[in-house]
Amino acid sequence: MLTRKMADIALGLRAVRDKLAAASARRGPELAHFEPRLVAVSKTKPAALVIEAYEAGQRHFGENYVNELLEKGHNPDILSKCKDIRWHFIGHLQSNKINKVLAVPNLYIVETVHSKKLATGLDNAWPKFRKTDESLLKVMVQINTSGEEEKNGCESSEASNLVKHVIDNCKNLEFTGIMTIGKYGYDPSTGPNPDFLSLRDLHNKICEELSLDRKTVELSMGMSSDYEHAIELGSTNVRVGSSIFGHRPKKGE
Ligand SMILES: *Cc1c(COP(=O)(O)O)cnc(C)c1O
Repeated sequence: MLTRKMADIALGLRAVRDKLAAASARRGPELAHFEPRLVAVSKTKPAALVIEAYEAGQRHFGENYVNELLEKGHNPDILSKCKDIRWHFIGHLQSNKINKVLAVPNLYIVETVHSKKLATGLDNAWPKFRKTDESLLKVMVQINTSGEEEKNGCESSEASNLVKHVIDNCKNLEFTGIMTIGKYGYDPSTGPNPDFLSLRDLHNKICEELSLDRKTVELSMGMSSDYEHAIELGSTNVRVGSSIFGHRPKKGE
């Protein structure tokens, strides 16, 4: 299926929201205190489809390329029609792009802090961009749970240390949770996704080591192919692109 037509976006969104709600209802009582957040990943899709999804009630959107976040974040139609939009940056952030990302109006969170250097860079820069004196920049720490070389994120063994750095040394940042992408193409019918289990274990470990209230630390995991499965395993934040907006052609397709 190619990019959906405008009217189809509302349908795609509704189908995803219904499945999300059904998956939430299947969770055990230990997870019943929250509803997972749906982040609509609009990468490669035009501003008009973002507006369409917004008008169908969607508020949280994700982008993983800096240039696309800048383009859509500053798009005049999105700015005038989507006043309450909340952008999640979910891609690899290089230190030399920090200022550009932080200048995006309605930036809600950076989900992909993978190093102390990046955390410190964001911490130092945020006072130049925040709208009110005390506001903190929400961040998640990205963990490379699959250990694949091409995946970004800190190593699992470093995660607790990096979270501690954010909490202790980055006074302009608000640590909100941990995020993973994981291996692509895992088939959930063969058992729980090992990346999701790893992120859950790290959640336990980090909360224990740093004495954090488990309920305040989010887990960002799950995409189009496996968001229901991720929710059943405790995800608080699923990042869903193609199931809402349609297939993204690969280069040359
Ligand atoms: C593209 C992307 C997604 C969404 O992928 P789909 O398979 O289209 O749902 C989620 N998370 C990240 C980090 C992405 O880059």
